[in-house]
Amino acid sequence: MIVKRSEDAGALSAPPHAGFYPPLALLIDGAWTGASDAAVRDVIDPATEAVIGQLPCATTADLDRALAAAQRAFQTWKRTPATQRAKIVTDAAALMRQREDTIARTITLELGKPLAESRIEVQRLAGVFDWHAAEAQRLYGRLIPSGTDVQNTVLQEPIGVVAAFTPWNGPAASPGRKISAALAAGCTVVIKPAEETPGTAILIAQCLLDAGLPAGALNLVFGNPGDISTHLVSSPIVRSVAFTGSVPIGRSLAALAGQHLKPAVLELGGHGPVIVNDDVDVRAVAALCARQKFRNAGQICMSPTRFYVHASVYDVFAEAFVETTRTLKVGPGFDPASEVGPLANPRRRDGVERMVQDACAAGARLLIGGRRLPGPGFYFEPTVLADIPADADIWRTEPFGPIALLARFRDLDEAIALANHSDYGLAAFAFTRSAAASARILREVDSGIVSVNHFQGAGDSTPFGGVKDSGYGREGGAECFEGYLVRKLASQRPL
Ligand code: NAD
Repeated sequence: MIVKRSEDAGALSAPPHAGFYPPLALLIDGAWTGASDAAVRDVIDPATEAVIGQLPCATTADLDRALAAAQRAFQTWKRTPATQRAKIVTDAAALMRQREDTIARTITLELGKPLAESRIEVQRLAGVFDWHAAEAQRLYGRLIPSGTDVQNTVLQEPIGVVAAFTPWNGPAASPGRKISAALAAGCTVVIKPAEETPGTAILIAQCLLDAGLPAGALNLVFGNPGDISTHLVSSPIVRSVAFTGSVPIGRSLAALAGQHLKPAVLELGGHGPVIVNDDVDVRAVAALCARQKFRNAGQICMSPTRFYVHASVYDVFAEAFVETTRTLKVGPGFDPASEVGPLANPRRRDGVERMVQDACAAGARLLIGGRRLPGPGFYFEPTVLADIPADADIWRTEPFGPIALLARFRDLDEAIALANHSDYGLAAFAFTRSAAASARILREVDSGIVSVNHFQGAGDSTPFGGVKDSGYGREGGAECFEGYLVRKLASQRPL
């Protein structure tokens, strides 16, 4: 792969955030504010390791103010006509499109991914806002014939205050999805976006405020994730929980939500299998797979990771995959030539390095990559591993980084069994010209999403979510309001 050396990175003009990075603050009851005490944490540019901002950390008193504001705002927001709520959400989407450059630059600065990918994230997010705004105007109830003079109506009502927690890998998409669905449905929100990428969430919230969102309907808090989630989820004001992140944290939040009898929607990542049959243009599919694998440096929950290739075409596939990987340009996201940016934080870079070392110690063969790159910046080479022993930990642990695993299969039974041999089940993929093979894969692979012959993933109008340890509940599609509504039976009889 082509590596952008650190001295080149240094030559990239003055501080890349000059002029567009927003002031970092909490949003409580419609006002941007510092924390009640002086606690702050640094926000780091992963491409340079420079401190780009200082983030105020919410105290318990700040959280309580945010909760009270959300509770107050709910009383009027839930009664606001759906058309009026939708107008605010779509106006915010329009502002996001106008502010694409600033938001995209902020994503690249905070997360490190190439600017072109950040722009796509902003455009998609505006589409998600539009989708939720439109769909929320169709939250009709239903009339159930009773056979008597009792009239039974089912009403769909907003559940109340939502506590949401989102990660850094989709800094706009992940908070934006939850915020826009909850607000459009009539809920109010206290959200803790990732501390690594606060500026992006702040810019999205500002679009909503500028579009006319009432004070308190959306509150943004930052700080110690465990302390904040414990306080919010335990609060009687919060009625629903939405989380995207890792399995261990998802497990603990689900337990806490369960203890307080609150519904939760959990999106907990994946370990995407890809079945490549012998009836495709192998070199073309290998190139496509390699490019998809290393998007956002592999830090995508839907990222393809386990490539199961028919034994008769495996060698060609492996060679072409490595060839494409070698051409990928690793460098800072602000360099238009960069295709793979740094990892989001040193924790991720160290984790990826450890996984590769463990796999190699267990007997895996490194086809390309495998090393961290000299700093500054949390860069790691796009890495391809083969001949990995079946019991190696990397088959079970989500790499969440630029690591591809290659293996052979002999027939479809084996390929499907291998694809299903994981505790995860978020997104699975296959490439084949055979209608029969495709039908079996769509039917038999255990996954929230199975895509054949493409990597487009889930859009606004399609449900997104996992099975098994990948979590439960859905975002997107007609299911997008799952965590945000209650169904009330309103039953009456004339006197
Ligand atoms: P993590 O689970 O520690 O953090 C993910 C997000 O959850 C972060 O934004 C963090 O602030 C937040 N978080 C952490 N503890 C929390 C808590 N107690 N309550 C509420 N929110 C909390 O993950 P990480 O260290 O950033 O990454 C580790 C692994 O997490 C990755 O390897 C990957 O497997 C997984 N991950 C998955 C996704 C996804 O999209 N599903 C996103 C990020 C990370």
